[in-house]
Amino acid sequence: MGIPLIQKVRVGAYVGKKRFGSNGNGRFSLALMLEPLFRCNLACIGCGKISYPEEILKKRMSPEECMGAIEECGAPVVCIAGGEPLLHPQISEITEGLVARKKFVYLCTNALLVQKRIHEFTPSPYLTFNVHLDALKDHHDARVGRKGVFENAVKAIGLLVSQGFRVTTNTTLFKGETAESAGQLFDLLASLQVEAMTIASAFRYENAPDQEHFFNRDEAIQLFRSIFLAGRGRNWRFNHSALYLDFLEGNQNYACTPWGNPTRNIFGWQKPCYLIDDGYEPTYRDLMKNTEWSKYGAGRDSRCTHCMLHSGFEPTAVIDSARNPLKALRVHLRRNRP
Ligand code: SF4
Repeated sequence: MGIPLIQKVRVGAYVGKKRFGSNGNGRFSLALMLEPLFRCNLACIGCGKISYPEEILKKRMSPEECMGAIEECGAPVVCIAGGEPLLHPQISEITEGLVARKKFVYLCTNALLVQKRIHEFTPSPYLTFNVHLDALKDHHDARVGRKGVFENAVKAIGLLVSQGFRVTTNTTLFKGETAESAGQLFDLLASLQVEAMTIASAFRYENAPDQEHFFNRDEAIQLFRSIFLAGRGRNWRFNHSALYLDFLEGNQNYACTPWGNPTRNIFGWQKPCYLIDDGYEPTYRDLMKNTEWSKYGAGRDSRCTHCMLHSGFEPTAVIDSARNPLKALRVHLRRNRP
């Protein structure tokens, strides 16, 4: 298994075309971060997305607004996040519309409602359920604030895989996790036949209830090195480019590319990225034109100091891979040496 060839070819062709075209300033989007609602059925202590008042939590983007967002930005990949997308009554209609436009959709979910709503979806190479699992049972349930969530997610993965859906997982690492505990989780996920795993070191949201369990950048690099070393010869597939994984190990010196994964939610287009909220623009074009992109990144904005998140740095790595394919191949081969 692994990311299907059709996705690699289509995204690769898109990046190749944009490298020589783009919108005149070299900026283009690889993945749209779509947040059609902020309401969630959990209250994870590291989350900065769900602390809005009730009048905001009851708002939702309509399917028409979601289609408008992808038509505007044109990215080949859409990550539907939130909030919990499966709480949106029209989520299957939104997903179907994106799949019909041949967008690769990652539906990010805590999996609590998978069993109830799975019948609304049809397996497709364009649709992936991306299940949130941060740690092994006790740690995961503690972080999401409810017992049984881990076991439910594991069952949901089995159900989705058995019905022919693409399934990936999303793991955010907080202090308290080690290479050993992360390795046990990844062994389990590999045994469940998930297609690939997304990993990140947690971003310190200013309004998240938990402000203590974040790695700084050096600590995160040390942990990623230990995890990847332990993973040699084990059947782990990560949902990232080889150069991004190399960046996580501290071997690539990258600046972030926040415009590569723009965020659209109920307020509009969020400046500058999925993680920081410095206001909104009404259109994608306005976001690209009016955001002072040079203000952001490590050394420029204190909120960015320890950020290594895929939403900011995977686009950098993908663009680097397109510009330097031999370097990308060398890193890929080095990383996959037995
Ligand atoms: S470094 Fe991270 S938080 Fe800062 S702009 Fe880039 S993606 Fe956003």
